Amino acid sequence: MVELAIGIDIGGTSTKVALINASGEFLAKGSFPSHSVGGADVFFPNLLKSIQSLLEEVGIAYQLVGIGIGAPSCNEQEGTIEGAANLPFQKPYPIVQMLEDASSVPVWLTKDGNAALLGERRFGIARNIDNFILLTLGTGLGCAIMMNGRLIKGSSGLAGETGHIRVANNNRKCGCGKRGCLETYVSAVGLKRTVMALLAEETMPSILRAYSFEQLDAHLIYLAAQEGDELARLAFELTGNVLGEKLAELVTVFEPEAIVLAGGMAEAGSLLTRPVQQRMESELLSFHKNKVRILTTALATNDAALLGAASLVWDQLRSVPVS
Ligand SMILES: [Zn+2]
Repeated sequence: MVELAIGIDIGGTSTKVALINASGEFLAKGSFPSHSVGGADVFFPNLLKSIQSLLEEVGIAYQLVGIGIGAPSCNEQEGTIEGAANLPFQKPYPIVQMLEDASSVPVWLTKDGNAALLGERRFGIARNIDNFILLTLGTGLGCAIMMNGRLIKGSSGLAGETGHIRVANNNRKCGCGKRGCLETYVSAVGLKRTVMALLAEETMPSILRAYSFEQLDAHLIYLAAQEGDELARLAFELTGNVLGEKLAELVTVFEPEAIVLAGGMAEAGSLLTRPVQQRMESELLSFHKNKVRILTTALATNDAALLGAASLVWDQLRSVPVS
C-alpha cells in the first residue's frame, strides 16, 4: 500500500492541496479560493471537501500518513494562523487541531516561505545543500534560510523578513508601512515601479510605454527584455544590482553555499542572475568571493510550497525511530 502525505499551501488568493508520495510525485492536486462568501466559517469545510475529492481521485490503495501545511503569519508552536492580512481569519485560527480532529493523522504547520525552502531542499534544485537562502520573488519578496541543514526560524518563527531590510537612497513606500524596503525594488510589483520610474527618467523608445501601471506585469517586462527592449533590460539590471548588493550583506553574515531564486520573476533567468551575481561579487569580502552559487528554481512556485508542506510529514516520520 502506497504511503501518501497531504500538502497544503494556504495563500492569499487560493489554497492548494495535493496528495504526494515519498518520492515527491503528485498523485492528485486541487485548489479552492481562500476567500468565499461566508469567510472563515466556510474555509474549513471547503478544505475538507477539497481533500476528500482528491482522495477519491487517487484510485489506488493508500495509507494517509500525515498532513503538512505552509501558511503566512502562522504560529508553529500553537498550530495557529494569526493576523494574516490576506486571509479571512480574524482570530487565531487553530488549523492544526481542526485537521487532526477531522483526519486522525498528525498535522504539521510552517511559514509558507519555509515550506518552499523545504520543497527545494528535498525535491528541487537545493537537494543536498545544507546552507542556502531561498528568495521567492512574487508580489512581495519572501525569504527562508537554512544553515547547517536546519531552518532558521527565530524565537517565534518569524526570522527571514529580508523583504523589509532597507535599501540605501530608496524612498519607496512599502506595504509594511516603512519606506525603502528591499521588496519595493525586488519583487514583481517593485519591477513595475522601476519600469515606471525609468519611463519617466529616460527618453529611449520602449514597447512598455504603451502600458499603464495596472496593465504591466513582470512577465510582460520579461518578454520585452527578451525581445531586446533596452528599457526593460535596464529595469532588470537595476533590480539585479539592488538585489546583488543586499545579497552580499546576507552572504557576509551567513556564508551560504547557494542562493536560490524562486517565484514568478525567477523565469527571467540570466537577465536577473547576471547583474545579481556581478554586483554581489563586487561587494563581497575577498574570502567570500567566487564561492556562492546563484541558482534559479526548476519547480513551479506552487509546487515547491506543496512539496515542502509534504516534506514536513516525511521529515518528521523519518526522524521517529522505527520500533
Ligand atoms: Zn517593508
